[in-house]
Amino acid sequence: MTISGKTQLCGVIGDPVAHSLSPALHNAAFSHLKLDFVFLAFRVKAVELQNAMQGMRGLGIRGLNVTMPHKTAVIRYLDDVESNVKFLASVNTILNEDGRLVGFSTDGIGALHALRENGVNPAGKKVLLLGAGGAAKAIAYTLAQEVEALCILNRVAEKAAVLADNLNRLFGKKIVGGALSPSAVQKNLQEAEILVNATSVGMHPNVNQSLVAPDWLKPDLTVMDIVYNPVETKLAKDAKAAGARVISGVEMLLYQGAASFEIWTGHVAPIEVMRTAALNQLGKVETK
Ligand code: NAD
Repeated sequence: MTISGKTQLCGVIGDPVAHSLSPALHNAAFSHLKLDFVFLAFRVKAVELQNAMQGMRGLGIRGLNVTMPHKTAVIRYLDDVESNVKFLASVNTILNEDGRLVGFSTDGIGALHALRENGVNPAGKKVLLLGAGGAAKAIAYTLAQEVEALCILNRVAEKAAVLADNLNRLFGKKIVGGALSPSAVQKNLQEAEILVNATSVGMHPNVNQSLVAPDWLKPDLTVMDIVYNPVETKLAKDAKAAGARVISGVEMLLYQGAASFEIWTGHVAPIEVMRTAALNQLGKVETK
């Protein structure tokens, strides 16, 4: 990589941020396409967020990914946001268009592309979504526009019910929300064609945990676990053993990153290059 006087800067802001896979993902893609861009991670404390956003404008930083704890707080410093951001109150990507800062959330489209690019079109399907946190909300917003039926189960039942009500109002679909009890998961899995785990259950170090008993899984089910550390979760292993189609969290990670890349550069993201970079990096960080 040659850095010149014309090199454009992108980056990720968060606290902590040293674990982020984004620098490996995006620098591999810039380098593969020979784009004159470079990507860095910036640890930004909450009290410095406003200064960081002024810095983005002042220095002409082309794009930023935004991670915890800034995803909601950053919105007040932007000039405009995509319509889904208004619903989600969360931004993971910022584009600097000649000083105009625009916020996007690419998690939902990342999940949709992860399904589609792995041969599963959720259009007209029955989906069971576990979780109603930040990622789950983004996925629910996108899938609600595609699916035949969506059931959202969450540890705090009210959060799932409110999310379902809001989506029903917006899209006029058959979406239900309720408590994430073992019996509710088992019952809803009998109908579901796609199961998405968007909780953090199974994430390192709790790698032996899953919300789904192995014998509730079936061969005609698609299971997407958005947890990507470890790359193969207990749920993914159990689903594979049951003969189900499994889509790993790395796929969503890749396609949400690809969407950010395309927003900043206008180029189609080189997915294979980004996948290799992500898996190499995860090999390094998985057990830490
Ligand atoms: P969050 O804190 O907003 O939400 C966490 C969710 O997990 C909530 O719904 C919570 O109720 C549920 N949960 C946690 N522990 C639980 C338990 N013991 N039983 C039942 N439910 C439980 O977090 P988030 O940002 O939505 O992230 C959730 C997971 O998704 C994390 O593991 C994160 O790394 C992963 N993630 C992956 C991608 C990707 O691109 N693959 C993107 C975003 C998040």
